[in-house]
Amino acid sequence: MKRVKLIIASLASVLLITSCAGDKKSKTEVNSESEVKTEVSKKDLNETYKITVTGNDMMKFNRSTITVDAGQKVELTLKHIGKMSVEVMGHNLVVLKKGTDVAVFATSAIAAKDNGYIPEGTTDVLVHTKMIGGGESDTITFTAPTEKGEYDFICSFPGHFGMMKGKFIVE
Ligand code: ZN
Repeated sequence: MKRVKLIIASLASVLLITSCAGDKKSKTEVNSESEVKTEVSKKDLNETYKITVTGNDMMKFNRSTITVDAGQKVELTLKHIGKMSVEVMGHNLVVLKKGTDVAVFATSAIAAKDNGYIPEGTTDVLVHTKMIGGGESDTITFTAPTEKGEYDFICSFPGHFGMMKGKFIVE
């Protein structure tokens, strides 16, 4: 009777060891697979995506969408192709965080003239260029969010966001 119990016990431990080994093996396979995938996407992400957006004296951006890959390096240039000064026809390009109320943000920006119409200490802004006037340009580099989806971009000069707005799309 004692012997039978022993056999069962050792059988059970053999089964346990076997199943553990099986688990370990499959986990390793998954790991090496995802490592390969990461390496491939890293390669792509090292390429900087360069994009130029223009703004003019008619209070218009030349594009309403900017599409990038998640986690992609981006070099974004805003070019003011008009002639009017920054005081009367200033433009910037502000990408807002997801879920930001554009109208509320733009209204709070009106009071932030001394800070280029970016409210100081705001947590709503993902990235933004300088506020520029006719003939000027500003280039910023950043890494696109890893969270896919649509982000709003606007010019935060008072009264501009109604016409100067678009979608920053992360794919
Ligand atoms: Zn503007």
